[in-house]
Amino acid sequence: MTDEIAERKMQFLYTLRSRGVTDMRTLTAMEKIDRGAFVRGIFADRAYDDTPLPINCGQTISQPSVVGLMTQALNVQPRDKVLEVGTGSGYQAAVLSQLARRIYTIDRHAPLVQAAREVFDALDLNNITAIVGDGSHGLGDQAPFDRIIVTAAAEDPPGPLLAQLKIGGIMVLPVGQSDTVQSLIRVRRTETGLEYDELSPVRFVPLVEGLAKD
Ligand code: SAH
Repeated sequence: MTDEIAERKMQFLYTLRSRGVTDMRTLTAMEKIDRGAFVRGIFADRAYDDTPLPINCGQTISQPSVVGLMTQALNVQPRDKVLEVGTGSGYQAAVLSQLARRIYTIDRHAPLVQAAREVFDALDLNNITAIVGDGSHGLGDQAPFDRIIVTAAAEDPPGPLLAQLKIGGIMVLPVGQSDTVQSLIRVRRTETGLEYDELSPVRFVPLVEGLAKD
């Protein structure tokens, strides 16, 4: 590793820690998965900045510290089956792939799913299945899930996703009435119902119903 790469990696991890990502398993996963592999074109040289960046189809790759906070809140266990709604670049799914048994990730934009599959193959991440579809209905044939993460914002947690969460399961997602004011929340399914807690303010692209026409 050149000094420059080592320095950049240290700075990246330092920034994550300073923004509240303290869980060691999450930090180790984020150290291993190179965000640079998921950012293309003119923004590639900003891959290690703690900022969201534009990707294809008018979407964004999330800010690394938000990826870290969501991963940490999800408290993924090694045997878990995880559903991610909103593949985007594939970066969040790749980070999760280091922590869980199997990741299903779904996006309504086929070109994004295709590009993400290519990166997963190149990095030998064999426990991720990327699917083109409307994730607001979840993924019935693989349900129920130990963990669900939604990386696009809805007004409320979608009912079908809550229904596909196991007892003892955790879902992390942004919710909000507008594009500008959203909160990251965590939902736990217990024996008797659902428990909610609010984590932090965030800003995500909206969860849109139906397949995209590309
Ligand atoms: N997790 C991504 C960032 C996601 S951006 C990453 O790590 O890069 C949000 C993504 O959610 C976009 O790609 C958008 O196409 C997708 N999305 C929005 N509504 C959706 C829906 N109903 N079903 C599946 N994907 C959806």
